[in-house]
Amino acid sequence: MEKRDIVHLLHQQNFRLTREREALLDLLMRTEKMHTAAEWHALAQREHVRVGLTTVYRLLEVLTKVGLATPFLVDGSVYYAFCSGQHHHHFVCLHCHRVEDLYECPVFQHLPEGCEVRHHKVDLFGICPACHAADAP
Ligand SMILES: [Zn+2]
Ligand SMILES: [Zn+2]
Ligand SMILES: [Zn+2]
Repeated sequence: MEKRDIVHLLHQQNFRLTREREALLDLLMRTEKMHTAAEWHALAQREHVRVGLTTVYRLLEVLTKVGLATPFLVDGSVYYAFCSGQHHHHFVCLHCHRVEDLYECPVFQHLPEGCEVRHHKVDLFGICPACHAADAP
């Protein structure tokens, strides 16, 4: 999805992009890891993007609503990763928190009789190759 389409979607949700908010969005878009709202806020601060924690929460909430961010519940904390608009799944590394997008769709069999699936969400959690290599003795 093009940046201007994303900006348009955010506008439709009454989220106006100031220069600082746009810098926060850019940070989210180019980061391939999941972070908690507090972590995103700290990352923004480090890059001198002056947005409050409330704005970080609000942007993450709006992006999630329009399908451009996914929340992951890991060890009782909610982490967010930016997502392309296209349907996909994730492999999440529990060690480095990197998020890989998987565009292959699993096939579900043996559904209980009469169940009609309208949409689905599948995320896999584990250890990525880089972390495996670092862990090897
Ligand atoms: Zn995604
Ligand atoms: Zn990893
Ligand atoms: Zn799928």
